[in-house]
Amino acid sequence: MFRHLLSILCLPVLLVIMCFLPPQYTNQERNHKIRLENAPNPLRLKHRRELSTGPKPRLQADSRLLRLPAEIRLQIWYEVFGGEVLHLVQLPKRLGHVRCCSTLNATDAPRSCILDYRGPGPITQPADIKLSSLDLALLQSCRQIYTEAVDVIYATNLFDLDDVSTLLYLSQTIRPQRLAAIKYLQLTWELLWAPFSIPETKDPILFPNDDATWVTFWRLIETQMPGLLELTFVVQAMYPKMDWSLDEGWVQPLLRIRGLKEFRLELSYPTNMTVELPNETFEPFRQRLTEIMCTAA
Ligand SMILES: [Zn+2]
Repeated sequence: MFRHLLSILCLPVLLVIMCFLPPQYTNQERNHKIRLENAPNPLRLKHRRELSTGPKPRLQADSRLLRLPAEIRLQIWYEVFGGEVLHLVQLPKRLGHVRCCSTLNATDAPRSCILDYRGPGPITQPADIKLSSLDLALLQSCRQIYTEAVDVIYATNLFDLDDVSTLLYLSQTIRPQRLAAIKYLQLTWELLWAPFSIPETKDPILFPNDDATWVTFWRLIETQMPGLLELTFVVQAMYPKMDWSLDEGWVQPLLRIRGLKEFRLELSYPTNMTVELPNETFEPFRQRLTEIMCTAA
């Protein structure tokens, strides 16, 4: 009886306390907050200029390495730095990468070599994943080696993304000419809802699945990546029965891309999902989109 009376007396007090507590975050709000707090720091403007505005670096006549013909040197830089799949991952305050070691798939869009990593959540903790690093000692040994090799890094590796926001961060953390040098790009897009298909995607809190981020991603490719030759776009379709149409709002930013040598649109499905074949609208859509994006600029 006494406990019953006590709970009745306490209830109004509890209600008053709850009114003055800050509002509870929803999962979306919490994820959004984590993303904003952990966004990679943009490169400062003075570092985003050309590498050198001073006199051209002089050849080091005594270096046997640098006396080799240019094509041999480029082959050496390629063997050290190039020709691989780099899975880009978002870390607190920065981007990292993992050189793919999978032998199952040439481009490893499912990221089978780092399946244990906690993705595609907003942020990967470094402890979850073994990151790769560049051979900085070689890059920093000489200005000429740096200038030659850094181009090889961006022009010969495949940059693999599992989130559209990663390209935004990449564009903010490397020099514009590095972004422009990238030739091979792969995006796996988890299609929860298509941008422009529901009013909620206007809300920036859905970042990176909001309309503006989607448009920015494709705008970057259109305007900042003139060197891009091959683009693989893997749609992880949660709703394989969707209609594929060039009239859909989410497709419009893609229709502005031109000049690709190769565009691959692929469908994949979560491993825990029964695979259903896409309906008859998919193949004509894929063909027409490829024709448009591979039209000369
Ligand atoms: Zn891999």
